[in-house]
This record gives sequence, C-alpha cells and structure tokens, in this order.
Amino acid sequence: MTFSALGLSDEIVRAVTERGYTEPTPIQAQAIPVVLSGGDLLAGAQTGTGKTAGFTLPILQRLTASAKPATSKAPIRALVLIPTRELAAQVEESVRDYGKYLKLTSMTMIGGVNINPQIQRLKSRVDILVATPGRLLDHLQQKTLDLSHIEILVLDEADRMLDMGFIRDIKKILAILPKQRQNLLFSATFSEEIKMLADGLLHKPAMIEVARRNATAELITQKIYPVDRERKRELLTHLIKEYNWHQVLVFTRTKHGANKLAEQLNKDKIPALAIHGNKSQAARTRALAEFKTGKLQVLVATDIAARGIDIIELPHVVNFEMPNVSEDYVHRIGRTGRAGSEGEASSLVCIDEHKLLWDVERLTKREIPVVQIPGFEPDPRIKAEPISNGQNRGQGGERKQGQNKSRTRTAPRANTGQGRTSNATGKPVARKPVLHRSGGYNR
Ligand code: AMP
Repeated sequence: MTFSALGLSDEIVRAVTERGYTEPTPIQAQAIPVVLSGGDLLAGAQTGTGKTAGFTLPILQRLTASAKPATSKAPIRALVLIPTRELAAQVEESVRDYGKYLKLTSMTMIGGVNINPQIQRLKSRVDILVATPGRLLDHLQQKTLDLSHIEILVLDEADRMLDMGFIRDIKKILAILPKQRQNLLFSATFSEEIKMLADGLLHKPAMIEVARRNATAELITQKIYPVDRERKRELLTHLIKEYNWHQVLVFTRTKHGANKLAEQLNKDKIPALAIHGNKSQAARTRALAEFKTGKLQVLVATDIAARGIDIIELPHVVNFEMPNVSEDYVHRIGRTGRAGSEGEASSLVCIDEHKLLWDVERLTKREIPVVQIPGFEPDPRIKAEPISNGQNRGQGGERKQGQNKSRTRTAPRANTGQGRTSNATGKPVARKPVLHRSGGYNR
C-alpha cells in the first residue's frame, strides 16, 4: 500500500516521503479514503498510530481540490479541535509540514499566550484552524473569529477532551458551526459519553478502529533498574553517560521533583530542562523545540505536561519514579517506539515502589525484565516507606477536577510465583535479583 494508491496528490506524497514515511499506517490506510470521499468518520485510535496524518492528509487534499481564490479574505474552512496546547501546536506543525507544497495556510489558536498576535493573524488568510476549545471561545466572544464557512470539523482525542471537562465548550462551538459539514471524531476509548457525543455529531459515520498500542507495544523494550531511592539520580546519570542516551524523556511524579532533577542533571553536565503546568507556554514550547532538535538531551516532565508530546522516534523514556496510576505508565512509555520505530522504556524502581510496579505489570499483563547495574544494588537494610508527594493516589497532581473518571483496572493476572531475571537485555548483571510477588528482593 502506498500513499499515492490512497488517492493523495503528488505534492502531499512528496511531503510525507520527505518526512520519512514509506507507507501508510493502518489508521491512515483506512481513514484517508473515507475522509477523501467526504463522509463522516468515527475512529478509534490513540496517539502513536499515525492518526494525525490520517486526517490531515485527506483534509489538505480536499481543501486543495476545491480551493478558493487566493485572496486574503478567504474564510476558514477546516477546524481541528484539540484538548491540549502542546498537541495543538504539534498538529498544526504537521499540517504545515504535510502541506508545504500546497497553497493552504494554517494557524494554531491556543491559550497561555497573548491573544493579540492571534487576532492579528486572523486578519490574513487561514484555511485550517487548529485550536484548543477555551481560547477559541475567547475569540468567538470577542468576535475576532468567523467560523461560518467551516466545511470540515475534527475532534481529536475526544475522550481526553471530555476527561478535561470540555464538553460544554465543545457544544457551544458545535452550535455555531454550519450544519452542512464533514465531521471526524478520533478517540482512544469509547465511553457512553463519547458515544452520545458521536451520535449527536456524526451522520452515518464510517467506523474504524486500530489496535491500541499499549499493552502490546512490542516495539518498546521495557526494563526495570532496581536502585535505592536516594541513588536514583546517580543511576540516571550513569545510564545516560554509559549508554550514550540522547533525547531522553524523564518522568517524575511531581513538579518540584521535575525541577530538582533537571537542576541536578545540569550539575552533572547533562543538558536538561523541566516542563510542567507551572511553566509558561513559551517556556514549554522552547524546551520542546530544543529537545526535538537534539540541543537539549533530557526533558523532565510530569504526566500532564507530557500529554501530547510527539517526537518522531523518541528513543528513551525513563520513569524516574513509577506513576501512582498504572495507566499513566502506558501513556508514558507510549511516547517511545512510535509508528514502527523502536524505543526503550526504563524504570528506576526503589523499594517503596514495588506495589506500583506490580500494579503496572497486572495492567499490562507482562513481567518487565529486571536489570541490575553493578554498584547500584539496593541496600537490603533500607525498608519501604510510604510514597508521600502531597497528592491523593490517582489524582496525578496537575490533573484537573473531573478528570480521570474513566480509569479502570484490568483483572489481576494470576500470581505465577516466578521471579524475573535480566537475561533478555544483554546488559551487565552483577547478580540475578528476583523480585517476588510478595515483595522485596530475594538475594
Ligand atoms: P500520531 O499518532 O499522529 O501522533 O503519530 C505518531 C508518530 O508517527 C508521529 O511521530 C508521526 O510523525 C509518525 N508517523 C505518522 N505516520 C507515519 C507513517 N506513515 N510512517 C512512519 N511514521 C509515521
């Protein structure tokens, strides 16, 4: 299957080829013909499947085919609604990149930045608008935005939008759009709420679903590095230097922890920056841009800040601390090994986190190989302590109220009673630690 065979124009195929894509991903192969045909679409796909190109490429093609004269007065014709600012900026960047040989123009409309440059930008031609709901409503209120010519609407990550409490905003926006339009809804999960939204929004939609890349993300090599809680930073520095890791996305549980770790890594001469909800949008965008170009070796993030980070072939994700909520582990490691490239997810696990690790293993239904780095063996005299980070279990710190409703756990896997060793990795092992289901390392 090729992009040309899906009916995309030479200009679009050229742009995706230059981006390094050789063939469409499954969601692209299924979604592109549907969108090109003009029908509505309900797609079950999560980040990492290539869904962005799945809707962007055919939208570019459709808008080009019925291009309006190149005047600065041309109206906005496609609206892509996105839950988070980072993701919106990245989607718009993709629109520009895939459309670089076309005459279409696009714009990002997100909160957290000055509204005036956006008002200015709206005075010139915008064909495709990529927006977060809050800022879009601000513009509507100020009457600086005209959506009366929208032909195509995309709701991306619809489940996350509902989780984040955007349903009212979305309804307000839908109410002012022209009735006659093409609607595309992308969601990783299908709760009752999503089904209701889809029922009200979509007209005879084509339905496609691609496999979730979570528990079965075979391309991601996962490893556990046992270490004492006080020696995690030392071990991380060791791993980064020893194995020459570049582009490492490191997760901490708290904003404070993210800042502290970034500072310490810099002291170890490893260029690192923290991104989290307390940083300005400009600071976050800058950190992300430097990380993408490779100037910044390590990005330290909290779960919420990392939502929507999309970096091609991100080679390393590190759980500096295990997440309180197992599903976050799946989201975290989903940042690596995307769309066909391999990735490595490493977790530094201290004695306090064994329970969290088992929760993850139950959820993902797999045992993660343990690698013991010589010199970093946990001290058997150190006892487990409760994890105190000032957050309620399951609330994830920066998460807004009303989020997290749809989180469920899968049935626990039967206890095999077998320990795990670190042979699969080929990495140095001083002795074979065995992490028993009942807790503690058996030496
Ligand atoms: P998405 O699910 O849209 O967030 O895309 C996940 C990642 O896959 C992004 O880094 C894309 O650049 C990349 N990608 C999208 N389509 C393809 C493709 N056909 N071949 C290789 N990589 C792709």
